[in-house]
Amino acid sequence: MREPLDCAIIGGGPGGLTAAVYLARYRRSAVLLDAGDSRARWIPESHNCPGFPSGVGGRDYLARLTVQARSCGARIESDAIKSIEPTRDGGAFVLTASGTSSAHAK
Ligand SMILES: Cc1cc2nc3c(=O)[nH]c(=O)nc-3n(C[C@H](O)[C@H](O)[C@H](O)COP(=O)(O)OP(=O)(O)OC[C@H]3O[C@@H](n4cnc5c(N)ncnc54)[C@H](O)[C@@H]3O)c2cc1C
Repeated sequence: MREPLDCAIIGGGPGGLTAAVYLARYRRSAVLLDAGDSRARWIPESHNCPGFPSGVGGRDYLARLTVQARSCGARIESDAIKSIEPTRDGGAFVLTASGTSSAHAK
């Protein structure tokens, strides 16, 4: 994507997906780029996750966060970021991914 964004989120674990929910709800232009290796996928069942008194599996939790982020309008793409470079004027960053994605964030 070539259009400048307010924010690029690197990583689609619970941290990145939570950021995506908030940024989308605050109507910021943002993209989440995820290499798909969240540590949360390894959690058989977590009992310290707020809102899940009976526990929740990591993959289920990630799926729920992804549904929530997308339902708020978040853009989520599968890709690994290879480099982040400041623009010449220092006012933004250019991200390059290993796949087809790239992003320009303020
Ligand atoms: C076996 C196990 C059990 C656990 N049990 C619990 C528990 O019960 N309760 C609990 O609170 N925590 C638990 N944890 C810890 C929990 O998994 C982590 O705290 C949590 O996943 C961290 O979330 P995160 O979003 O910061 O990072 P992660 O979940 O690791 O997500 C980071 C994401 O960023 C992506 N990424 C990294 N670099 C790039 C890049 N250059 N470009 C694009 N994407 C990138 C990765 O692929 C990954 O998808 C457990 C962890 C493990 C391994």
